[in-house]
Amino acid sequence: MTRVWALTGTGLLAITTCASAATPAHPRAEAQALDLAERAIALRSVQGPGNQTPQVAALYKDALVAGGFADDDVSITPMDDTAYLIARWPGSNSKLRPLVISGHMDVVEAKAADWQRDPFKPVVENGYLFGRGATDMKLDGTIAIAALIELRRAGYQPKRDIIIEFSGDEETTMKTSAVIAEKLANAELVLNIDGGGGVLNEQTGKPEYLTWQGAEKSYADFELTVINPGGHSSMPRKSNAINELSSALVRIGNYQFKPESSELTRAYFVAAAPYVEAKIGAAMRAFAANPADQAAIATLTADPSFIGKIGTTCITTMINGGHALNALPQRATANINCRIFPGHKPADILTELQRVAADPAIGFKDVTEGSVANDASPMRPDFVTAVNKAMALIYPGVPVFPSMASGASDSMWFRYRHVPSYGASPVFIKESEDFSHGLNERTPISSIAPAITYYLSLFTDLSK
Ligand SMILES: [Zn+2]
Repeated sequence: MTRVWALTGTGLLAITTCASAATPAHPRAEAQALDLAERAIALRSVQGPGNQTPQVAALYKDALVAGGFADDDVSITPMDDTAYLIARWPGSNSKLRPLVISGHMDVVEAKAADWQRDPFKPVVENGYLFGRGATDMKLDGTIAIAALIELRRAGYQPKRDIIIEFSGDEETTMKTSAVIAEKLANAELVLNIDGGGGVLNEQTGKPEYLTWQGAEKSYADFELTVINPGGHSSMPRKSNAINELSSALVRIGNYQFKPESSELTRAYFVAAAPYVEAKIGAAMRAFAANPADQAAIATLTADPSFIGKIGTTCITTMINGGHALNALPQRATANINCRIFPGHKPADILTELQRVAADPAIGFKDVTEGSVANDASPMRPDFVTAVNKAMALIYPGVPVFPSMASGASDSMWFRYRHVPSYGASPVFIKESEDFSHGLNERTPISSIAPAITYYLSLFTDLSK
């Protein structure tokens, strides 16, 4: 155990680290985080009839107000069958832009019959919290709430406003996410506590590395349409809507977008290389050094886990065509799903696909729903320094590096508005035990104590 003293606006605040978790460093906050998470998991905050997201919002609001937030500073806004929450802790300098802490309250549907336990009855067993939302992201949310309340208890006074907000439909339509980002577009920066996170070694269970997320690919859907006069199938013509569309889809399927890298992905490749298979690791290092290295590109392109990290990808996901077994098709359509490398407009990718299809008769239409294009957030020194410092408190020597996600998180809505947003969860989990959106979701409760310490440091550094 190490003890560090951080200077705050009101005096000295003890930040005690406790990687071994032998002695609780912040017992009240740790207990509150787990208790609130259990109560939140018991609320079925799933889109559709009986959605209990508004009750999760009420639970969080009660905790925040009991923890020192003014009632007027915590708003819950209903929207469709859900709700969102925005809570403000006023800073001492109203000229500064707020620090925003961003999460969500809704969870993905869980079919109880397929689970070993009821997904909406939280259970702590063998050191794990089980239940829908244990990983994505009720525990992460309540750890952040408990950390803020601990800061208030310690008498901390932020210089800039600290705003914690929770969307209510991140897993589905993201309508509340879009509204929140619009309302908080003046934020200095956003900490998305639903992104990033640490990996525990599969064998030893010890922390291996932590990634913070500074970018994500943009999601887009393009619809391709071929129209044809059609006719009787006993009198075929050369021109056929399905054949014509198919030829274009093959050309698009064979096409590779220009490989590219960014400051963030190069940093990721160098830092992550030791943790992957040697051949891939060598290619990652070579690509980071030279994004035109053909051998490295070939190796990374051949691996479905890495092809998306070196450029835009587009792939056919649906086709539809013809109207009768004995008629020439009058219409054929296909959906091309793209994951766009940060920095490109969807319209430019559409134009590139049109060029590759090389058939002016094919109609192209952007049919993307619920997604917006966004650039990478800059590697801001204040954020990077604060994360490294917080990590050094809880897991000294454990590597920390940036990553780009395949999308889409609530950060997308902030980055779309040019507000820097960083996925910065400190919760560690084995890759083999990450069951977000899946069955028997669980998170080790040993993550709670270090995560509280990490947030106390991070929230303080970015708001003082
Ligand atoms: Zn999530």
